[in-house]
Amino acid sequence: MWLWKQEEKPEIFKVCDLRSELDGINLIPETQVLKWLNWIPKKINCFLWRAVLDRIPTRVSLALRNIHLPSVLCALCNSASESVDHLLISCQYAQLVWTAVSLWVKISLPRYLLSLVGLMEHIESQCSSQEIKKAVYLIAAATCWILWRIRNNLIFNGKITQVSRAVGDIKAISFFWVKARAGKTDLDWKKWSEFRCFK
Ligand SMILES: [Zn+2]
Repeated sequence: MWLWKQEEKPEIFKVCDLRSELDGINLIPETQVLKWLNWIPKKINCFLWRAVLDRIPTRVSLALRNIHLPSVLCALCNSASESVDHLLISCQYAQLVWTAVSLWVKISLPRYLLSLVGLMEHIESQCSSQEIKKAVYLIAAATCWILWRIRNNLIFNGKITQVSRAVGDIKAISFFWVKARAGKTDLDWKKWSEFRCFK
């Protein structure tokens, strides 16, 4: 029989106890700005965590692991090495997407935005309430995820995604997450697309 020594007295092991124990541990002490937000699907929380720790398979990251590639240049702009911070933040394409997203959520971007951690710190400092912070954090996660998918779609399927399409996809996927996971059942698309839903 498995026993679980969470407190003084051993108890019968339950998966939910382990889960609540893990939830209470700060798994990502390197990045104080990252949070395990339950409004975001677990897969995306994991993706963001791996991105901040430079653990997603960008071309630079693959080349560092001795994987032979024809080029380490960013597929979206072809003008700089494809690191995490380049692909998700400083790439010209990503900058156009972030500019549109920042206009949507009414938070200005810093003049020099060079890293994903820098962006998360900026969100942390700019949002006026916890609820807005969570919503903007969710939208930032959706933006990173969509940029990654756009990059993969270009590299593996040769498909180019227009910036306007990318922004539309970010609004749609984040709306779906908020509706499904944040308990905002009365939220409608009009309010979300104007970001008039949180106080
Ligand atoms: Zn680029």
